[in-house]
Amino acid sequence: MAEELIASNGGTIPSHPYRSWVEVSLTRIAENFRSIRALVGDGVEVMPVVKADAYRHGAVQVSNTLQAEGAQWLAVSNTDEGIVLRDAGIQTRILVMADFLPFSREELIANRLTPVIHSLEDLEALNRLAAKHQQRIVYHLKIDSGMGRLGVRPDQRIAEAILAAQHVTLEGLMTHFASAGNYQSPQTDQQVATFQQVLDLCGRAGVYPAIVHLSSTIPIAYSRKDAWREMVRPGHAIYGYVSPARGHAPPRQLDVRPALTWRATVLSVKDVPAGTQVGYGGMFETQVPSRLAILAAGYADGIPHRLSNKGQAIVAGRLAPMVGAVSMDLCTIDVTDCAPVRPGDAVTLLGAQGDVSIDAQEIARLAGTISYSVLCGIHERVKRIYVK
Ligand SMILES: *Cc1c(COP(=O)(O)O)cnc(C)c1O
Repeated sequence: MAEELIASNGGTIPSHPYRSWVEVSLTRIAENFRSIRALVGDGVEVMPVVKADAYRHGAVQVSNTLQAEGAQWLAVSNTDEGIVLRDAGIQTRILVMADFLPFSREELIANRLTPVIHSLEDLEALNRLAAKHQQRIVYHLKIDSGMGRLGVRPDQRIAEAILAAQHVTLEGLMTHFASAGNYQSPQTDQQVATFQQVLDLCGRAGVYPAIVHLSSTIPIAYSRKDAWREMVRPGHAIYGYVSPARGHAPPRQLDVRPALTWRATVLSVKDVPAGTQVGYGGMFETQVPSRLAILAAGYADGIPHRLSNKGQAIVAGRLAPMVGAVSMDLCTIDVTDCAPVRPGDAVTLLGAQGDVSIDAQEIARLAGTISYSVLCGIHERVKRIYVK
């Protein structure tokens, strides 16, 4: 398809009347979801993670697509994100993974969201809330098996506390890995073992959560099957990404492809002589007579400032270097070696065109960050378009 665009449009992409936009393929999202399901098999539920506006792919559209594909569960970070989905008519179960703040509890319950509880104190609070509402509330409990972030640390009193909370029902027991992609570290094996001890303790007390879940993208993609259990929680993979593993990782089993392409419109093109300084701080100086294209996107749109003098854009199937500092609303690329570009033409900041591609991992590497942060950093003012 990319070739067609080049051929039909003198080397540029069909323009939209936007300074910068993303094209999200819902077909790709659906395919990625199906690939994950096929890998984990029928016995394992797949709960796509659509927090942070579906990693900026658009939570409502992505959730509608996943619901239509048969997803029974979706996961969000907080109550507000869950409410957005309920207001849009999403009927799946929705797990709220990082909230249960006192000021969001009532709304959480009113919107039929399922809370993750992170401490025994919060479990008591949930129990009181259920008693007050005379309503049985179903919850998941998170165990801190070694990440040292959210969750109850292993504790003899966990089973007792679950049994004592008589107005609520434990449905899920979960944990999250700190170093899933690092096969040089024993941390994941240790976390699995620690979590299993908590499960065993619960079992001895007669507490058997119906849904045990531990795995985000990496333990799915590299087939750490002892961490799949009843449900898995892929985020990154839904959007087509799997971070490379470190150390002696087993071969990656999952095939997914990026669903998002990010474009920016050329605002101005100019020819400058050798020795021209470009942008704030004169960070770049042309060595030869050069043609510059100034793009209508900057760090306020989500282009990492650290791509200054390091980033790239695809212009008519060819990589053009970013020159000078990325500024708030603009950045500059050197198009001297590219096919002619005019103001109003679009270039690709993230995506594939012809034989070249730039994905979020590549951008992250150049900017010294992670691909998750690149995707989530795409600002709301960047328009979103849904394509096949
Ligand atoms: C964000 C998140 C996930 C998804 O992680 P990916 O690496 O994007 O698959 C899963 N579980 C929890 C608890 C999370 O916060």
